[in-house]
Amino acid sequence: MPLSESALIERYFRACGAQRPDVLAGIGDDAALLAVAPDAELVATTDTLVAGVHFPAGSPPASIGHRSLAVNLSDLAAMGARPAWALLALTLPEADEAWLAEFAAGFSALARAHEVALVGGDTTRGPLCVTVQLLGQVPRGEALRRGGGRAGDALFVSGTPGDAAAGLALEQGRLRAPADALVYLRERFLLPTPRIALGERLRRHASACIDVSDGLLGDAGKLADASGAGVEISFGAVPVSEALLRTLGEERARELALSGGDDYELCFAVHAENLQALLTELPPQRFGYSRIGALRSAPGAVVVRDGTVMEFSHSGYQHFR
Ligand code: ADP
Ligand code: MG
Repeated sequence: MPLSESALIERYFRACGAQRPDVLAGIGDDAALLAVAPDAELVATTDTLVAGVHFPAGSPPASIGHRSLAVNLSDLAAMGARPAWALLALTLPEADEAWLAEFAAGFSALARAHEVALVGGDTTRGPLCVTVQLLGQVPRGEALRRGGGRAGDALFVSGTPGDAAAGLALEQGRLRAPADALVYLRERFLLPTPRIALGERLRRHASACIDVSDGLLGDAGKLADASGAGVEISFGAVPVSEALLRTLGEERARELALSGGDDYELCFAVHAENLQALLTELPPQRFGYSRIGALRSAPGAVVVRDGTVMEFSHSGYQHFR
């Protein structure tokens, strides 16, 4: 007998994610009832993953569960917010119990790691599509924004961008890599790490922040635009992983780090007068970020190597054609 919608919700989603005392009503009522902290602002985001568009059809279900939450966590990280509550709108072609169990396990593990409660959602039949809405909180007036930067600010990025784009290309058979690099790069696509802890700490240091989902150069450009400035990135300063270096060589690795997508890293600007405090209080080695350039008064986003501006395409796909 096929699983009814209510049995499916009960079995796979009732106990998904963290339990939180500020959830006054969660799954099972008509809407969730949440107690927002009195000194906080509510931060809200939503992102949809469509099968065959945002992940390869046939991706491991645990990865789809993880990524559907991770992409939203990354948005809250960029605001300096602490995540709290998620809603899940799930469109499924069929109630495949093995698939649902793995999907829910992937979602739940990441939710628990960030103390996120799943407080509601919707379940419908149709082509596979996952929408997560994520709510979080930030102390009043302290959220990070894209637009707080100014010319002269130092620019940073967390992690090693480009890995996930290579991982996706490997997943789709558009790229080859040495065996151990392949394992690492695939995982960077399938199980990205949202930078929640870094985002929260950056509230005290950064002037502007954006999460890198569509390619570092383009997203750094968005931050600069919102800040009424331009941005200059130093090609040689773009951090790349060992695995990406061994797979693509230095030139193409850095190009992909600038142009790829699905990184879910943070790109942030820091006023000159706050630079020393940042580097002392959040040591780059320990918190995993690198200085890649600066905001400047001339608009636009450029990459500079040996003092000259590089011609650079924003699209990562061409690297594997
Ligand atoms: P309604 O018809 O009132 O919208 P539903 O029968 O769709 O209610 O859902 C019942 C309860 O289950 C609600 O609390 C809803 O938020 C929750 N829910 C439905 N689908 C999901 C899901 N995929 N994940 C988490 N909660 C869900
Ligand atoms: Mg409903």
